[in-house]
Amino acid sequence: MYKSSSFITEIIYSKIMGEQLRRLSELKSPNTIYVTDLVSCTHKYHLRRRFPELTIVFEPSAVLGDLAHWGLEKILSERGVKTEVDVLKYVQLGNEIYLVKGRVDALDESRGVIIEVKTSKSALNLPREHHVRQLNFYLEITGFREGVLVYITPEKILEYEVLKQPLNIENEVIELLNNEHHPRYSWECGYCTYRKICPYFSQQKET
Ligand code: SF4
Repeated sequence: MYKSSSFITEIIYSKIMGEQLRRLSELKSPNTIYVTDLVSCTHKYHLRRRFPELTIVFEPSAVLGDLAHWGLEKILSERGVKTEVDVLKYVQLGNEIYLVKGRVDALDESRGVIIEVKTSKSALNLPREHHVRQLNFYLEITGFREGVLVYITPEKILEYEVLKQPLNIENEVIELLNNEHHPRYSWECGYCTYRKICPYFSQQKET
């Protein structure tokens, strides 16, 4: 015998949706640029400012990813590692000032290492280029020289050391504002929340 229940779902829902709703007004700001904007299709940044509500999701796969992040971050914080650390950089272009911001999953100051956690359905083609680029942005902004990308997949747990590579954030912001890469990767459109309103949509699968 059983009865349906939803009180745990409501707790998860309230946390995950609350965080997304709190960010909505920031998503409309043209002067706030997320590190994820700089490693993705540039048209997403332009669309999310006009259609921020389309970013809201409550999918079990995304919930699983969030729970894995929070779980590992809790374990790391019990070992003295800082978690969920905001990183910021101001970029001035002409009279405009842009705030480039990101949130590092974990920052191990004793080892001088930034830790970025990823969950994935598949362990193929790891590490993924956009994840390495994202971590490199964090290294550039913080001045750290080394990072670790941790992948948690149903089949494997893998981690990769990433050393800082030269990166010009100002140029990357200019390319974003000029909308130069739409999409940046051929597989992006298939997973994109804006695909139904995007003139650049192209239907290619991830290889
Ligand atoms: S559908 Fe493709 S081109 Fe359009 S915003 Fe999404 S990823 Fe970019």
